[in-house]
Amino acid sequence: MSKLKIAVQKSGRLNEDSISLLKNCGIHIDNGKDQLKASASNYPLEVLYLRNGDIPQYVEDGVADLAIVGENLLVESQNDIEIVRKLGFSKCKLSLAVPKDVQYDGVQFFDGKKIATSYPNTLNQYLKKNNVNAEIHLIKGSVEIAPNIGLAEGICDLVSSGSTLFKNGLKETDTILTSEACLVKSKKLNAEQNALLDTLLFRLDAVQKGKKSKYVLMNVPNDKLKVVIKLLPGMRSPTVLPLAEEGWSSVHSVIEEGKFWEVIDQLKAAGAEGLLIVPIEKMVL
Ligand code: AMP
Repeated sequence: MSKLKIAVQKSGRLNEDSISLLKNCGIHIDNGKDQLKASASNYPLEVLYLRNGDIPQYVEDGVADLAIVGENLLVESQNDIEIVRKLGFSKCKLSLAVPKDVQYDGVQFFDGKKIATSYPNTLNQYLKKNNVNAEIHLIKGSVEIAPNIGLAEGICDLVSSGSTLFKNGLKETDTILTSEACLVKSKKLNAEQNALLDTLLFRLDAVQKGKKSKYVLMNVPNDKLKVVIKLLPGMRSPTVLPLAEEGWSSVHSVIEEGKFWEVIDQLKAAGAEGLLIVPIEKMVL
């Protein structure tokens, strides 16, 4: 019987979220410390723990069928692999930054200057697109220190909160790309493996949709029901149940995270009381 091999980061930022995503999909992985490979006990899946930078090539070669990696790495490595889902975690930007007291009025600032980065290909593309002729200085870690030690006039690095830039006296100037963790697949999957992937994606989508929504319960006077129901999209339509107290109903529905506070404010204004908000573990439409 076919199985899928999924590569995840051995250690680093993506590791924990990747494993917990698989667990939320109901996949049990015997996760012994220092193991490079582990099989799921209840799903035809093998997890390969690999060095982040090596993963796209393993997927292109078909050594791993699937992987969880940052989009930024895919752009940089330019391997021939396919993104199947964006996963919503490890969101960050690849940005240019310069010392905060430098006068910066556009990317032409870098003409004839040095930029330190671990992402030479992505940076090179960006500089070319903007007709900037800068020297790229490749370093593998602690890029943000480069301007302080006179190695480069600016850097190109991953930024999330911006606190690392701030601590090193740098300011962000240009966003080159935005990134989040992605599930990618090899182009070498056979039909049976693609069918297996579909079952995994079904679970994954249920988990992702659940995360993006909240279950809400509220008490509503019956004469306000019509207005309240209009505010609630729900999955099909809200559930309305009578309360023990006459003249009142309990209304249950699902609200998307993005619209959440706006809808809650409108519900309160329309007469809803005693709102309970409950996380949803999985959602199958
Ligand atoms: P690392 O654990 O530092 O090797 O980073 C692995 C991946 O995590 C990167 O390729 C990015 O996709 C993501 N990442 C790196 N730095 C950040 C950050 N500051 N915030 C969010 N995600 C990041």
